[in-house]
Amino acid sequence: RLAAALSALSGAGRTRDGHSVALLANIGGIEDAELAGPQDLEGVGLFRTEFVFLSSETAPTVEEQTEIYRRVLAPFGDRRVVVRTLDAGADKPLAFADLGPEENPALGRRGLRLSQARPELLDAQLEALANAARATGADVRVMAPMVATTGEARWFAERVVAAGLPKSGVMIEVPAAALRAEQVLGEVDFGSLGTNDLAQYTMAADRMEGELSSLLDPWQPAVLDVIAAAARGAKAAGKPLGVCGESAGDPLLALVLAGLGITSLSMAPSKVPFVRLALAHHDLADCERLADLALAASSAEAARQAVLSGAAAEL
Ligand code: PEP
Ligand code: MG
Repeated sequence: RLAAALSALSGAGRTRDGHSVALLANIGGIEDAELAGPQDLEGVGLFRTEFVFLSSETAPTVEEQTEIYRRVLAPFGDRRVVVRTLDAGADKPLAFADLGPEENPALGRRGLRLSQARPELLDAQLEALANAARATGADVRVMAPMVATTGEARWFAERVVAAGLPKSGVMIEVPAAALRAEQVLGEVDFGSLGTNDLAQYTMAADRMEGELSSLLDPWQPAVLDVIAAAARGAKAAGKPLGVCGESAGDPLLALVLAGLGITSLSMAPSKVPFVRLALAHHDLADCERLADLALAASSAEAARQAVLSGAAAEL
């Protein structure tokens, strides 16, 4: 019993019956990487590269980027590091990647759409990442933000292969991609649900609008339905699907996500121990039952309450 209790406090994420759910960090640059690297986690599930260049007036060169990525990768040794290509746009402006003002920036040319408008920026970033991966021996996996269609996923995967990088993935954060996850993920090696944007676009509620926070709750039945649809698609495609939105750090929701078949959870590193502990106290079959309870609830509050009572009953 003591051994079981202690193993729940450290090491790789897994349910009580040993089903693995990788616990990963969300990071935004060198400083975050140096803080997260020594911690007990399985790598990085989301490196938001745009954060590094917020104050850059001109496009960083391949050499400059290589040095930055090398320093971000180094603290993780041979653990995985999922690097998201620039998620810029009028809502997250970068001076060197400005396509002009837009009426609805969240619905505009952001993320992969911007990469398609300025492919030279993407190619420079991929070249630098390939250089840094070679220099460090890190397990680098690149993923594209704001993918909506199968064609976009294919376009991205081809460029990743051309850059000599081994693995490509896409964020599933647009409902269109979640509903077609089987086909979209068929083009790449893995997917990662961005539940922040997925909630925003599913509920038609601006994530910057604090007054709408209850609509943006990832426990909203419609958001859970869209997540479940994406998880079914990933299973049908035989591709791993993680979560890297803020919801991955909610220990109770983590049980639901594991029950839906999510294979990794990426979060602020400080949240990892709580999620590890929650998973270690439940079998996968418990998590599946909790997911059913959540999906059957008629509101976010009811879902949270049902899973809380269900999880306590199973302890
Ligand atoms: C998300 O949308 O959930 C996500 C992880 O990306 P970001 O918060 O950077 O948009
Ligand atoms: Mg997002």
